[in-house]
Amino acid sequence: MEVTEGATAETDVSNTPDAPPKVVPPSERPKTGIEREAELLTPVEVDYGKAAYRQILPGVMQVPTEAVLALVRKSSLWPLTFGLACCAIEMIATYMPHHDLERFGIVPFASPRQADVLIIAGTVTKKMAPAVKLLYEQMPNPKWVISMGACATNGGPYTRYDRVLQGVDKIIPVDVYVPGCPPRPEALIDGFIALQHKIMEERGKF
Ligand code: SF4
Repeated sequence: MEVTEGATAETDVSNTPDAPPKVVPPSERPKTGIEREAELLTPVEVDYGKAAYRQILPGVMQVPTEAVLALVRKSSLWPLTFGLACCAIEMIATYMPHHDLERFGIVPFASPRQADVLIIAGTVTKKMAPAVKLLYEQMPNPKWVISMGACATNGGPYTRYDRVLQGVDKIIPVDVYVPGCPPRPEALIDGFIALQHKIMEERGKF
């Protein structure tokens, strides 16, 4: 072999243009993008003795429909903006940013046609009772009622007053009773959480 000036024998061998390129066996070569995609597109071998979702989409959770519906309902309660007396001021305060009911998905709505929660906030007089009943009947099913405060629950300080209804549950069904005169916004939030638990427990009944 002819050695040129300033070069060693080894460098001459590796730099020779006629040296054959190193051959990498297919098993050691990294896969190209097309080869990786072709592997993913290979049809799945289905084992008919095993649930298909376990084979094709591993990790997918199976949930009953009624549980999904109950979750959606309890997470998007729309109470009707309707108040009767002093308790209504606390209800309005609960809707304000300080208490932030919207973090529970609770958004007040002005029409009974779209609302699904009726909060009886205040004294129900016998003169007002037919209007309360009408609002309840205008709401679509499923719907829920929260009796907020002593007046709505049993007449409160107006016990034995002839012109005051001694409990709104005498004209419409009540799901949650919130005690107090008036209840604080935290108590109403507690009532909403109790209602959400009730909706989850009663799933599948609607
Ligand atoms: S329970 Fe008390 S605060 Fe609420 S409406 Fe009756 S009197 Fe007013």
